[in-house]
Amino acid sequence: MPDRGLCVRCHQVTDDPVMIGAVESGSGPGSILYACPPCAREYAENWFAPAWLREELAARGDDP
Ligand SMILES: [Zn+2]
Repeated sequence: MPDRGLCVRCHQVTDDPVMIGAVESGSGPGSILYACPPCAREYAENWFAPAWLREELAARGDDP
């Protein structure tokens, strides 16, 4: 993971980006979506959030 990233939800640069998903592109390399930890936790509560995201947050130890 990069040291810094742009949160796709609040559009702030975060020093602690969490990967929340990836966009696949048929015509080129896809892109990875990052979020700041608070947004990642919020996103993880959505039914459509991937199960591995909840595991990732739990592994970070900052899951509520
Ligand atoms: Zn954010």
